[in-house]
Amino acid sequence: MYLVGAGPGDPGLLTVRAVQVIALADAILHDKLIPPEALAGVKPGAQVLDVGKVGGGAQVPQGDTNELLVALARKGATVVRLKGGDPFVFGRGGEEAQVLRAADIPYEVVPGVTAGVGASAYAGIPVTQRGVASAVAFVTGHQEKGAEGTALDWPALARFPGTLVFYMGVRALARIAERLIAGGRAPDEPAAIVERGTLPGQRVVVSALSDLPARAEAAGVGAPAITVVGPVAALHAELAWLRAGPLAGRTIVVTRARPQASALAERLRALGATVVSAPAIRIDALPVTLPDLGGYDLLCLTSPNGVERLFGAVRDARALAGPTVAAIGPGTARALRDHGVMADVVPERSVAEGLVEALSGVPVRRALVARAEEGRDVLPDALRARGAEVDVLALYRTVPEPLDAATRAAALAADAVTFTSASAVRAFLAAAGGSESLRDGPRLVSIGPATSAALRAEGLQAHVEAAEHTPGGLVAALLALSGGTGR
Ligand code: SAH
Repeated sequence: MYLVGAGPGDPGLLTVRAVQVIALADAILHDKLIPPEALAGVKPGAQVLDVGKVGGGAQVPQGDTNELLVALARKGATVVRLKGGDPFVFGRGGEEAQVLRAADIPYEVVPGVTAGVGASAYAGIPVTQRGVASAVAFVTGHQEKGAEGTALDWPALARFPGTLVFYMGVRALARIAERLIAGGRAPDEPAAIVERGTLPGQRVVVSALSDLPARAEAAGVGAPAITVVGPVAALHAELAWLRAGPLAGRTIVVTRARPQASALAERLRALGATVVSAPAIRIDALPVTLPDLGGYDLLCLTSPNGVERLFGAVRDARALAGPTVAAIGPGTARALRDHGVMADVVPERSVAEGLVEALSGVPVRRALVARAEEGRDVLPDALRARGAEVDVLALYRTVPEPLDAATRAAALAADAVTFTSASAVRAFLAAAGGSESLRDGPRLVSIGPATSAALRAEGLQAHVEAAEHTPGGLVAALLALSGGTGR
């Protein structure tokens, strides 16, 4: 059993240990306020349960969560209890540990970056600073109803010689400011509220303590937010570093298979986008028995996945010395280059037809087309029509993946959906409920002509097609799209 902190929101703030134990878990019980990306690494088949507030309303009662934790652990399951921020900071992690101890269930606690530290840092507010604040207090704005001994000592807090960081609902702000000032805190003391700290939509409002409630209300600040009271809050003006990227405020869907999705998602996030990870396909490796490549005068590769699988099967790189090597798409050529092979032929147009054209002057006797099992037969057929003997080697299979209801809804409400292959187009549309569900919805961004053609075949039109048919080109197209038309 692991009690794990997921950090304040930016998935980059998950700890290495958190990522490790999430990948081990048979069951994950998580709160609402965890980065959705934290669940990207769960084992296939793992049970993922949201025990946070249901539809903004009732929370799963803590007693039920405790019982579930104990029951799952007793069944021998590896259980991760995943909480926002740090599990022991206003997260009731301590109570859950007590329940586990009482039930004699061993546990490990994985600390997380707590919102008071993480959101402050992302707002450019050091919670301590030499000569300015040499102490910091984390204070809850929520009072546990009826509990003894938890009432806050406001006069003592007002006198606290350092920074006060309040975790709370925004509604509590007016009461907090009022009580602190009544307790002797200077009304003009700097204070800041950080909304959605570390997340793409982070906002910071800084003002005098007495004005902060009105200023926050005027700005429409909502949950989740922390409030920092103390002279360090004024350092925001000098030290703020988080720049709104060109994709700030946009939600972009990535439909690629999981292992490849993360690099694209990372790039989009770095530009400020909120990324919805909706992997529409999965790549299943097929067992490969490599024929003698020396017997071929042409070897065609059609995707980076194919290249990776091929080199997984190649014992001796000299086997590739004989045939002419052709690659569809710059990504495929790049993957070959990463393995020390410069493709001889890379067609201008990244589709099978483009390669057929590019090969028109090349004499071909025997060709090997190494590709996905379900690939189109345009290339083998065209080569055969020219009199070549063609073998097709299936290296992997693309399998459609279902989308859960929440991901589907998030994807359909997004600003743009990115497609990096024709198979992802077909699988995504099947999982999303057909092309109708995407009409007049998100912008559709295609990596290249084959992907755009797959959209057309479904009765949809790519709003933009990448000029360079790589993930980098896709990002560039997305930037052009949002710079131009906006949505
Ligand atoms: N265990 C968590 C806190 C849970 S209490 C932690 O260590 O951070 C929930 C409160 O945390 C929210 O009401 C809000 O005050 C704060 N919070 C959580 N995520 C936040 C975020 N991204 N930005 C600002 N405040 C956040």
